[in-house]
Amino acid sequence: MEKDGNHPLYRGVKNSHPILLQGAMELEIAVFCRAMTQVKAQDIGSFKFWSGMLKKQAVVLSQTGIGTAAAAAATALGCQVFQPALVLNQGTAGGYPEDLHPYDLVIGETWYNANARYRTRYGKTDFLDLVALEGESKESEFTGSRPFLQHSDRELVAWLDRESTHYTRGRSVRGCIASGDQWNDEPERIADLQQQTGVLCEEMETAAAGEVAARLRVPFAAVRVISNNNRLGEPFDAGTATALQEWMIKAVLRL
Ligand code: SAH
Repeated sequence: MEKDGNHPLYRGVKNSHPILLQGAMELEIAVFCRAMTQVKAQDIGSFKFWSGMLKKQAVVLSQTGIGTAAAAAATALGCQVFQPALVLNQGTAGGYPEDLHPYDLVIGETWYNANARYRTRYGKTDFLDLVALEGESKESEFTGSRPFLQHSDRELVAWLDRESTHYTRGRSVRGCIASGDQWNDEPERIADLQQQTGVLCEEMETAAAGEVAARLRVPFAAVRVISNNNRLGEPFDAGTATALQEWMIKAVLRL
């Protein structure tokens, strides 16, 4: 987002539409919550929202819950109720490459729905493009051995990329996130998935939140911190979620 205010996202934010900040687990939203002022809590069923300010920036913080169903519903509610200028989904993720470690950042330029799979007649598991399939009846046209990639908003990715130069807790890479209701702990399987897809990490919310934001035409981007690398046996480190939020607060304040 350019500071000249010409980009529509920037105008939206400055016209006091809030930024919707999402995290799945308590530890993925706690730092934001403490940093906010003028906080007003609003629960919708078990979905928790807090509207307030980060200095002069209006934000709505959403604890989506874990997984695709919860993340999709929280995004739909968050967009309808709070009319945000943009949605930022953030949190922890499991690294796939051997050179990605806890505290490294992944800016999710692309992502795919890892739940959308097609098991062929010949026993091969392919990827499936669920949204494309809505207008068609031939599953075979929307399957492939490569995942169907969705894109975060280009301006938001460029902004996150620029901000990543201020991140000091690890390195920062830009690439693809695998997103679905699964946790892979088998090193060979992770290595195969990485080889097949070129993906950098896996988590459980981006695809659902991103799909719903796209359907509601709200600009969306995902950014993840590596909290574990199961290929290398590096266990979940909760401190990574804190590091990500601390960096994101400073990034939002520089908008
Ligand atoms: N293992 C953690 C709990 C994480 S549960 C603990 O011990 O506290 C899964 C949540 O973490 C999801 O919201 C998901 O987005 C994220 N996540 C982090 N690493 C993941 C991985 N390797 N695979 C899938 N989800 C992961």
